[in-house]
Amino acid sequence: MKSGLLSLLACPICKYYPLQLKIFKWETDSDKFNQLESIIAEKNTEQLNKDIQIKVSKIENEIRVKDNISRSEKPISDYLKGLNNIYDDILAIEDNSNTKSNEILDLIKKELFNKIIEYKNEKNIKDLTKIFEQIKFNIHLLNWYLFYAEIEEGIMICEKCNRWFPIIETIPQMLPDEIRKEKPEKEFLKKWKDNIKEEVLLEAIPFNLENYVICPQCGHSFETVEGGEIICPNCNYIFNR
Ligand SMILES: [Zn+2]
Ligand SMILES: [Zn+2]
Repeated sequence: MKSGLLSLLACPICKYYPLQLKIFKWETDSDKFNQLESIIAEKNTEQLNKDIQIKVSKIENEIRVKDNISRSEKPISDYLKGLNNIYDDILAIEDNSNTKSNEILDLIKKELFNKIIEYKNEKNIKDLTKIFEQIKFNIHLLNWYLFYAEIEEGIMICEKCNRWFPIIETIPQMLPDEIRKEKPEKEFLKKWKDNIKEEVLLEAIPFNLENYVICPQCGHSFETVEGGEIICPNCNYIFNR
């Protein structure tokens, strides 16, 4: 899944928007993210354009932009206004993948995006042409991050109804509760438990790890509803929850 898809997704159950997106693993090669450092330092727009293209044209001195964010060709002034609408979506993305990518996301959130929307109310066509030259690289990088880089595994969380939805092998799985499969989904939560907030692990619906315990002796994890003393089925160690 591309993180830009977040702008098009609402919770399928309660319709809340935007969902919170937590990225655990990228399918995009980590080398690609590592290379961004020098691409950013050089503002190398052409290099980014090889991965994902942005169409820029000029009609009667007015710059027009078509990219994956606008989806149709728009005069630059309208384009910048439209970008303002995706800011909340970008803030809803959290990168827990331990690659260079979280530094890139941080840079987009804290610097690059602000630089773009600074000009959202600018109307002077001549000034906008100049401004576009200054922010062109930022727009390219934003497109690259949102619509080129592919998430392999992660989750989306609805803050309203407390549901979580997995992204598995790049596919967001947004099924109704009754056809979701408890066992593999709990396995998925266990696999990524170190990347998921405790309140989600223990309280999110439709499945969570509320009843899972880890044996302090052998590290075996298992599900039990018992309170008080628990016997590890693996090593017979007795411990309290
Ligand atoms: Zn919801
Ligand atoms: Zn044990």
